[in-house]
Amino acid sequence: MSPKPYRFSPNCAVPLSEGMVEGRIRRYCPSCGFIRYENPLPVVVAIAFNEGHFLLIKRGIPPMKGFWGCPSGFIESGESAEDACLRELEEEAGVTGEIQRLVRVMRREDAEVYGDMLVVSYLVKITGGVPEAGNEVEEVRYDRPDELPDYLSTLLQDIVTEINPHS
Ligand SMILES: [Zn+2]
Repeated sequence: MSPKPYRFSPNCAVPLSEGMVEGRIRRYCPSCGFIRYENPLPVVVAIAFNEGHFLLIKRGIPPMKGFWGCPSGFIESGESAEDACLRELEEEAGVTGEIQRLVRVMRREDAEVYGDMLVVSYLVKITGGVPEAGNEVEEVRYDRPDELPDYLSTLLQDIVTEINPHS
């Protein structure tokens, strides 16, 4: 679902109707036949680390404003998921990185702003730069795995041995 459903046909500006189309309730234009397919937004997450610590950002905008999390953002058209991940890391936290591996692909529903999302997470080794909060970010910090907020330690527990073989 999307929090703000389209109301008009983008082709002819006729108000969209709602009904069963191709097996699902969808919005469609009764005049030109436009069908509003609802697809999840593609999001990338950078699980970034340096010397056994995770890099976290404090979010400055909704959703989850004020919470600590990993740098993340939307993939732009023409951009690979890997490139988007490294771009978001640099924009939000001021550091450059190198993709180590794909960690997971999962579905998330954000009730606050974006609706349905497809979230692709990469493990990223930080290679340069000085951590600095970008636009839409309040702070950047490094956490040891045992310092993570509870909601993140569960999500990241399977990665801890990879970022710090001695932990
Ligand atoms: Zn139309």
